[in-house]
Amino acid sequence: MTLTAETPTVSAAVSARLALAPHVFVDGTAQTTLSGKNLPVLDPATGQMIATAADGDAVDINRAVAAATRAFDPSGEWRTMTPVERGRVLHRIGDAILDRADEFAELEVLDAGKVRGAARAIDVDFAARAFHYFAGWPTKITGATVPVSHPGIHVRTEKDPVGVVGAITAWNFPLLLCGWKLAPALAAGCTVVLKPSEETPLSALWLAELAIEAGLPAGVLNVVPGRGDTAGEALVDHPGVDKITFTGSTAVGKQIARRAAEQVKRVTLELGGKSANIIFPDADLDAAVEGSAGGIFWHSGQTCSAPSRLFVHRSVHDEVVERLHAIGDGLRSGHGLDPTTGLGPLINARQLERVADHVRRAGEEGARVHIGPDVPTGGFFHPATVISDARDDMACAREEIFGPVLTVLPFDDTDEVLRRADASEYGLAAGVWTQNVSNAHRATKALRAGTVYVNGWGLTDPAAPFGGFRQSGYGRDLGPDSLEGYLETKSVWTFHG
Ligand code: NAD
Repeated sequence: MTLTAETPTVSAAVSARLALAPHVFVDGTAQTTLSGKNLPVLDPATGQMIATAADGDAVDINRAVAAATRAFDPSGEWRTMTPVERGRVLHRIGDAILDRADEFAELEVLDAGKVRGAARAIDVDFAARAFHYFAGWPTKITGATVPVSHPGIHVRTEKDPVGVVGAITAWNFPLLLCGWKLAPALAAGCTVVLKPSEETPLSALWLAELAIEAGLPAGVLNVVPGRGDTAGEALVDHPGVDKITFTGSTAVGKQIARRAAEQVKRVTLELGGKSANIIFPDADLDAAVEGSAGGIFWHSGQTCSAPSRLFVHRSVHDEVVERLHAIGDGLRSGHGLDPTTGLGPLINARQLERVADHVRRAGEEGARVHIGPDVPTGGFFHPATVISDARDDMACAREEIFGPVLTVLPFDDTDEVLRRADASEYGLAAGVWTQNVSNAHRATKALRAGTVYVNGWGLTDPAAPFGGFRQSGYGRDLGPDSLEGYLETKSVWTFHG
């Protein structure tokens, strides 16, 4: 039987967004691109074009940076706004997201291939909560009095906004990443030029409009959709941009760090991962299997912190693998607006090919490959897949696949598994499932990752810092640590005699 994922009916509000002419959002208004170029926006579940977006390039970036620079004027509206009022604006942006939560969720399903329930409960809700959380920070950013050993001199530090921020984001969480990047940058008092992924530009443009309605002064937030090698590079290279905050692949993150170094530009990098997840023999197996499967299959494995390397103690290995097969086999692929869908599509044909290649190669290298049920044609679907009998040196155990593909590796003792789990060039997340407190403590100490989960997987919160060790990046999103990335420390010396 050939399946297809038909597009269910779309709400009037979202239809209207899809019908908008391609535009950038600069200086408080939607404007046509100076580049004059456009990009098709595809629904990953059908492969059909659903909208046309601007394909902004260097001229559009120049215009946006000029607007953000004007908005950063020390005597302008944004810089002179009281911290209380800045917090109120951020809070109202969070409210505006929640007021349109269902529509935003629908838009993310169509643009990014999400499943509606998760888009609503996770992407949209988290974006709003990020603005609500950071709304509390402008009134709490403080310096210190410094006890210098010079008579007649008073020294204090103050925390100043770093300036104009260039934010570049990935396609897997378009709206949510706006919350992660924009909310702390705005709370710190910066102005921003955001370049969303060329795959998923729609929600960021809508958010920018709502931010103006919420009271954000014109020019404080500008959005230029476009490709990485044009708009992205222009933003990184622009001398008027003081800081780049980037979420995306490790390969592009390295290029950005190299280019930014030319101007000693501040950079925060949130990059890829190959996160290790360990099931010890004393774990609550029901929770461990459910949590591990949920972690990798959610959003079809297109999450940076996906627990894609699962180490299972040999004594429970076969049982765990069988249960994972059953969960994967039970996931029905379909359009994310269809309430019976358990597994959505991948973002595009290139990503589908990449994932399928990895699975093929694992089989050729001698691993056992269990592929889930048939998927619809037309869109970019890949079935839930479990690779077992794999070795640590295989590509499927080392490289980020970014699909619904789990690699399972058996282990025999704790020292061995902690060493193997940590032998990765990445370090974004890690997890352990055990009832043994000593095991849990040893593992959380030993595993070098920005987030370590014990008996759970995947939760994030605006208050909890998120980021990577090693090639998963540097700097942090979320929590108080992320604010530091948008602030400079200034020492002020007053000679009072
Ligand atoms: P990507 O690196 O291909 O693209 C990310 C963004 O960078 C896009 O906006 C793209 O247009 C832009 N870009 C591409 N080339 C550029 C260049 N030369 N200069 C400037 N900008 C450029 O990543 P992707 O495929 O969109 O996203 C998937 C990757 O993102 C995965 O590796 C995933 O792990 C990672 N990711 C990490 C986190 C995290 O918090 N650590 C979160 C989400 C996704």
